Amino acid sequence: MIYLKTEEEISLIKDSAQVLGKAHGEVATWVKPGITTKKLDIVAEEYIRDFGGIPSFKGFNKFPASLCISVNEVVVHGIPGGYVLKDGDIVSIDCGVKLNGFHSDSAYTYPVGEVSAEVMDLLSATKKSLYKGIDQAIDGQRIGDIGHSIQSFVEERGYTVVRELVGHGVGKDLHEGPEVPNYGKRGKGIRLREGMVLAIEPMINLGSKSVMQERDGWTIRTSDRKYSAHFEHTVVVRKGRPEILTTFDYIEKVTANTSLMVEVK
Ligand code: MG
Ligand code: MG
Repeated sequence: MIYLKTEEEISLIKDSAQVLGKAHGEVATWVKPGITTKKLDIVAEEYIRDFGGIPSFKGFNKFPASLCISVNEVVVHGIPGGYVLKDGDIVSIDCGVKLNGFHSDSAYTYPVGEVSAEVMDLLSATKKSLYKGIDQAIDGQRIGDIGHSIQSFVEERGYTVVRELVGHGVGKDLHEGPEVPNYGKRGKGIRLREGMVLAIEPMINLGSKSVMQERDGWTIRTSDRKYSAHFEHTVVVRKGRPEILTTFDYIEKVTANTSLMVEVK
């Protein structure tokens, strides 16, 4: 079901998204070689609960953690655990917060220590593709315009778009309609309307678009084990110009002028 949100509901999602943005910023201070992914999860959960929020992912379809932490060839839905981040890794941190009855959802992929230029370019292009998609979240456009924008941007650069996982509506439920694919045809799909709140989240691979699920029932990785990047914002469709409800500002305060920084070129 697609729910159009009222301004009051949108402002509640914005409150949730502020806590989410700050939690991301707190986690960013811990992203470095030598840290376990479990530690990052603990930091996020404590931070979210301190602000009266609930980690959206914990317990969702029995997911065991507050963050999805996806390292290197893991695309999404990695489970935090004993893995120790090392120099040259990339780590995608996906987080959701429920506050005042409304969810917000966003993800960011960090380079850990020294990462190859090829992989830095993947991160930069994936982040930029997110904004290319967001630019289409305008009343009157169609869902395919978002996917087309993302797909054409990354494919021109030789990357591929994961098909099996897509963005989604977000609100009282973490996953609402419509589905928001990161691929598509211009002018196709449902028409976007002001008040739709969408999680737009390109998942972009360095190699083949093919992915598979590990036996834990969660972890999705690339079939060829080449790296994959993921960036996500929660956005409200507006007339004329979209409004981004989540924020990377707190992350970017931490990462500015460090090796963690992902510049959009
Ligand atoms: Mg997410
Ligand atoms: Mg999402």
